[in-house]
Amino acid sequence: MLNEAWKRRLIHIAHSGTGRDFNLKTKMEYPKTVLGHKIHPSKTMSYSFPWLHKIKGTVLQNEILAPYTSIQIGGPADVLIFPEDIRDLQTILKHIGSQPLFILGEGTNLLIGDRGIRGVVVSLKNCFKEIKRPLFFRKETGKRRAVIKAGAGVKMSYLAKNAARYSLTGIEQLVGIPGSLGGAIVMNAGAEGTETGQVLRSVTRITSDGEIQTLKREQLTFEYRKTIFPDGDGIIIEAELEMEEGDRTEIQNAMDRHLSRRSHTQPLTVPNSGSVFKNPDGYTAGRLIESAGLKGLSVGDAGVSIKHANFIVNKGGATAKDVNCLIENIQEEVKKKTGIDLQTEIVRAGE
Ligand SMILES: Cc1cc2nc3c(=O)[nH]c(=O)nc-3n(C[C@H](O)[C@H](O)[C@H](O)COP(=O)(O)OP(=O)(O)OC[C@H]3O[C@@H](n4cnc5c(N)ncnc54)[C@H](O)[C@@H]3O)c2cc1C
Repeated sequence: MLNEAWKRRLIHIAHSGTGRDFNLKTKMEYPKTVLGHKIHPSKTMSYSFPWLHKIKGTVLQNEILAPYTSIQIGGPADVLIFPEDIRDLQTILKHIGSQPLFILGEGTNLLIGDRGIRGVVVSLKNCFKEIKRPLFFRKETGKRRAVIKAGAGVKMSYLAKNAARYSLTGIEQLVGIPGSLGGAIVMNAGAEGTETGQVLRSVTRITSDGEIQTLKREQLTFEYRKTIFPDGDGIIIEAELEMEEGDRTEIQNAMDRHLSRRSHTQPLTVPNSGSVFKNPDGYTAGRLIESAGLKGLSVGDAGVSIKHANFIVNKGGATAKDVNCLIENIQEEVKKKTGIDLQTEIVRAGE
């Protein structure tokens, strides 16, 4: 159940509109109630996406994005589309023109602004979920390896468990990462010394021209929490991961260990967006924040987690403004006390 503070926030967002004038023929009225509370729209909204009826998947307008993020923060998207397949994605790219496009994975590394995202948000939550059976081959060394092809919408945790079923080692350390494969590729997500880029063999994406393109790993550059693609990210739809055969029990045990460590060290029961800051060379951001005495520091309902200082938690009704303000305070204090500039890891999107 949403608490009162959160309901008030939703109502505030619904009232404030998108802050933008649409030049449209079709007019749409705001809903009359939000979570049982009456609202009185200040202006009539209209939209400029006359091609939306061509989409086979689900299309939502002025949809609040907070529920689609792990930190439960974010205002409305002008349009939120859950495509059904590649053809839907190509339709979007064909018609979107100069409207902004944002791709949403599982929303676990995001901070979406309180006024939401203008243009089109595409969520791959309900599609590209297939994991193909691994194809095994033997290396010159005699070791057996395998390639797994998986859709970008597959959750990393599920993919890691699936690989373990076939005794494939290489991504068991990533089992606790709550995002999708697509998000893990873009972010080069990593844990326990393993990064997504290390096991990638190829990535298939749709470019902004709607072309389906498969890139080999040699065409990508993997950096700390970022993969660099030629000509921008595009929409990632599928990837091949290459892994080595290992001992199934050892892989299983390693996954159990990683999951148990996370549940002890991370605030998994409170909404958050994972690590907020990148670890500076030779330091961990969490320790720097903790040693600066900032554990528990709050702005509004956004607070530095007591369990892990590199996590900001939403204690109920936190806004993106609260989180941004807290981030600035942390950066200033850490800089003052240690001389180190903390860079953010989370992706900020929208207004
Ligand atoms: C409790 C918790 C623990 C976490 N632990 C870790 C950790 O150990 N290591 C780590 O690296 N991260 C961690 N994270 C952060 C996060 O889970 C990862 O960065 C994850 O890979 C993000 O995936 P996502 O699907 O949620 O992407 P989102 O947060 O939805 O998006 C992230 C970025 O990827 C882009 N994107 C997503 N999907 C696609 C696609 N298909 N095509 C093109 N662009 C796309 C988005 O536009 C955005 O720029 C943690 C988060 C939480 C909440």
